[in-house]
This record gives sequence, structure tokens and C-alpha cells, in this order.
Amino acid sequence: RPLTSNDLIEEHRICVCVRARPLNKKELTMKDLDVITIPSKDVVMVHEPKQKVDLTRYLENQTFRFDYTFDESSTNEMVYRFTAQPLVETIFERGMATCFAYGQTGSGKTHTMGGDFSGKNQDCSKGIYALQRCLSHDKEAKLQEVFDLLNRKTKLRVLEDGKQQVQVVGLHEREVKCTEEVLKLIEIGNSCRTSGQTSANAHSSRSHAVFQIILRRRGKMHGKFSLIDLAGNERGADTSSADRQTRLEGAEINKSLLALKECIRALGRNKPHTPFRASKLTQVLRDSFIGENSRTCMIATISPGMASCENTLNTLRYANRVKEF
Ligand code: ADP
Ligand code: MG
Repeated sequence: RPLTSNDLIEEHRICVCVRARPLNKKELTMKDLDVITIPSKDVVMVHEPKQKVDLTRYLENQTFRFDYTFDESSTNEMVYRFTAQPLVETIFERGMATCFAYGQTGSGKTHTMGGDFSGKNQDCSKGIYALQRCLSHDKEAKLQEVFDLLNRKTKLRVLEDGKQQVQVVGLHEREVKCTEEVLKLIEIGNSCRTSGQTSANAHSSRSHAVFQIILRRRGKMHGKFSLIDLAGNERGADTSSADRQTRLEGAEINKSLLALKECIRALGRNKPHTPFRASKLTQVLRDSFIGENSRTCMIATISPGMASCENTLNTLRYANRVKEF
């Protein structure tokens, strides 16, 4: 019997995939080289440029294995079929499903999550999204703040009660009846996320966006699907910048990405204690990291250019750690 997308999820509560995008115009103009090969559907190779002591150059091949690897010819539809789609079942079975896009700014996180409404992305609406909530955690005014993207970026408070239940106070929820309504909300949320910025990436590289679909039956929450477009992971390395704000922000992003990794690993190990308190991001996602029926998928997106090699390797190493628990 050929392997189907459902087999992947049945085997693991955590699925880790990699997607490489094609070289873009800018990279082609700069004659950047593609250093990624995807020789089979679960392997990715990085050909890292190195130099010997005598200054001769060579490429060092590094191989990583994941649940699934998607090359530059893959479509959103295809990625969806093996990542988010198998998780959809979960929310109908009283479960929590979470799908993350992790990677360097410009590597294709937003494109993959279907939040790219620039008009260039023709296949973005193939059903990844159906949301009721949309919030963002970003820094604009201060670090570690949470904003409602469906309500003019109102600042929100995250509270935890004595029973460790986390609540985002005043968060907007919208009832949706069809996919079109959902896509409209995502578009509103994303334009709100990037408003006032010179480029979409200037803002999204510094914030995590969380989209949540809540399934209710007779008024009670039945299941929840969270789709998360994370901050650019290269930002976490901004810890030695000359600018204090950039440095602090880098440290916060680093902290939240580390906390995320530990929470997913705890989920994989069925550890009773999840270290979700370390960041707002993991606090907001707390109920998705606990519970019997929680499933997570991480899609690590990578830029194929040699110029991005270091970031790409960092992304793959992080994804590798999430996978091993
Ligand atoms: P990120 O959200 O990680 O910063 P984006 O999703 O905004 O990156 O992608 C950067 C640019 O690359 C966008 O113009 C996007 O349309 C394009 N892009 C990303 N992934 C792909 C892909 N797999 N195929 C074609 N174009 C892509
Ligand atoms: Mg983005």
C-alpha cells in the first residue's frame, strides 16, 4: 500500500517538513547559486560553500531527514495535502491541531500558510485557512505584546488563572459560514499586521501571527486549529546589533522560538510538564501543547540561495531538534 498523508499523522503527533522555494528574481539577478537539493521526498541536502587553508573552495554536503521535504516545484496544494489536511480530522475529534511556518524572512512562510494576498500567489486559497481568531504578538510599541488583528490592532492582555487556564481578554471572534469569509478575514488580519510598514516583511519579520479556527458544538469548544506564521528566525540572532531596540527584540524572538521548540518537544515526549510560560507565544498556545489529542506540524521554509546558506542551516537544525525528542 502506498504511503498516504494520513499515515504520517497517525504515526506521529508531530510532523516536521521542509519546503524550499525557487530562487527569486533578486537572487537570479545577483547570480546567487541554488545550494539545495531534495533527492527524495524526505531528504534535503545543503551544499555549503567552504574554504580550505590554502584558500581552495569546495562544497560541503549536509544531509537532513524529515517527515516530508518539498522542493521548489511543489505547490501550496501539495504541501497542504501532507501537512495541514491530515490535521483537520483532529479538530472534529475534540482535538487541538497546530501548524507552524518557521524560517528566515523571505523564505516563504506567509506564502505557505496562504496569507500571501499580493496577487502573485495564485494557489494560496486551497483551504488551509478557516479562522475565527487572528491575533499577533509583536513589538511595535513594546516587546511581548499581543494585538487583535480583527479589531484595529487593539492591544490585548494575556491572563492566566489559578488553574493555569490562559485567556486572551477581549479577543475578537467572528462567526464564519464559508471559505470566502475566512479568506477575507485573513486578508484583513494580514493587512492590519503590516500596516504602516514600508514593506510587508519589515513588520512580519518581527512578529508572530496566530490564526485560530474554533469549532463549536452547542456553544462549547469542540476543537481548535491554530495556524502560525512565525517571526523571521534570523531575527533571533539580532542579539549583538548596535541598536538597543533591535537587540532586545532579537532576544525576545529568540526566547519565544526556543520556548516553542521545548513545548513541541514536550508534547512529543508526552511530558506532563510543558514549559509554556517562557513566552507569550507559547502561553497563548498552551492548550494546544497539552491534552491527549494534540497534533502539531511544523513546516520549515528555506531560501535556496548560497547567500542564505547560514540561515538555512540554522532553520534545518532547529527543525531537526523539534523532530527529535
Ligand atoms: P516570509 O513570510 O517567510 O517572509 P514570503 O512568504 O513573504 O516569505 O515569501 C517571500 C517572497 O517569495 C514572496 O514574494 C512570495 O510570493 C515568494 N515565494 C515564497 N515561497 C514561494 C514558492 N514556494 N514559490 C514561489 N514563490 C514563493
Ligand atoms: Mg511573512
